[in-house]
Amino acid sequence: MSATEQISIRVEPTSTSRLSQVDFNNLKFGHIMSDHMLVAEYNNGKWEDVSIVPYGELSISPSMSALHYGQSIFEGIKAYKFDDGTVSIFRPENNWERFNKSAARLQMPEVPEDIFLGGMKQLLDIDRDWVPSKEGTSLYIRPFMFATESALGVHPSISYKFIVITCPVGAYYSKPISLKVETHYTRAAEGGVGFSKNAGNYALSLYPTQLANDEGYDQIMWTDALEHKYIEEAGTANLIFRIGDTIITPHGDTILHGVTRRTIMQLAEEWGYKAEQRKVSVKELIDGIEAGQVAEAFAAGTAATITHIDRIGFEGKDYTLPPVEGREFSNKVLDYLNQLRYGKIEDPFGWNF
Ligand code: PMP
Repeated sequence: MSATEQISIRVEPTSTSRLSQVDFNNLKFGHIMSDHMLVAEYNNGKWEDVSIVPYGELSISPSMSALHYGQSIFEGIKAYKFDDGTVSIFRPENNWERFNKSAARLQMPEVPEDIFLGGMKQLLDIDRDWVPSKEGTSLYIRPFMFATESALGVHPSISYKFIVITCPVGAYYSKPISLKVETHYTRAAEGGVGFSKNAGNYALSLYPTQLANDEGYDQIMWTDALEHKYIEEAGTANLIFRIGDTIITPHGDTILHGVTRRTIMQLAEEWGYKAEQRKVSVKELIDGIEAGQVAEAFAAGTAATITHIDRIGFEGKDYTLPPVEGREFSNKVLDYLNQLRYGKIEDPFGWNF
C-alpha cells in the first residue's frame, strides 16, 4: 500500500476508562495496559478490519497455528511526553522496517506503514493521557503479529492478526549487570532467525539464562554457534564496548539489529569517536579487560537505553570492568538521549516522531 493510500480505522472508544485506577508512581513493567488497542486482520491476501477497540481478551482456536508452529513476531518501542504535552515516539520507522524483516523471514505478510505507524499514531492520540510525563517514564508500545489459521499441519498460515497494545512504564534505574559468556548453548546460527524479533528467540533463551542466574550472573553474553568464539548480544539488548576512543559493537545477522545500538553508534560518530561494527572475539574482550584497555562495556536496548556491565564471567573466571562513574561515553549518551526524547533540546537527527 502506498503512503498516500490512507487505511480507514474504525474507532470504538471504551465506555469505562481505567486511567483513574492507575498508580503512576508505582508501575510494574508490562502489567497495566492502556485503555485501547489497535487490531487488524489479514485474510485472503489483504489487511482489513483495522480498528481501535477497548483493550480486552481475544478468543482463539486451540488449533490456531501460532500456538503450534510459532509464527509470532513483535516489536518494542517507547513514546515520551514533552513538557508542553506533545507525545513523541522514538524512531518507530526503524521498528516498522525491522518488523517487516522479521515477517518476511517467518513467511508472514508485511504490515503497511499506514497500519503500523499510522495506526500507532492514532492509538496514542486516543490514549494520550496514558503517556506518563514524569522524567524517566514513558509509554511502552508493543506491536505484534501472529498466525491465526485454525488448522494443524506445518505450512504458512493463511490468516494473521496484527495488534498494538501499550502500557505506561516507570523510570528505569538499571543497576550494573554481570554477564556469563555462554560457551555451550546457542541463541542463533548463520542462516537462522537471530536478526528477527520472533517469539521463539526469547523462549530458547530462558533455560540457559536460568542456569547463568544460578551461577550468579544476571544475563548471558551469547557467542557464535559455530565456535563460541565471537561475541553476539546479551539478553534483550545489544553489546557495545569502548576501547580507547573506539566504540565497538558486534555485527552480523545472528543478532537483532537494535534501534538503540544504531542510535548510539550514530552519536559516537557524530561526537568524534571511531565507531566500528565488526566481529569482536571473546579473546579480544578478555585480553582488553586484563590489559586495562576496555574503558566501558554496556548493553543497549529500548528498555533501559544503557545498562552498564560490571563483571564478565568466562570459563570459570570473573573479569571486572572499570567503575561506572568514570564511563564518559555511555553516561554522555544517556544524558543526551534523556534530553532529546523529552524534547528538552533540538532534534538534529529527526528521531522524534
Ligand atoms: N537484542 C535483543 C535480542 C532484543 O530483544 C532487543 C530489544 N528489542 C535488543 C537487542 C535491542 O533492540 P532495541 O534497541 O531496538 O530495543
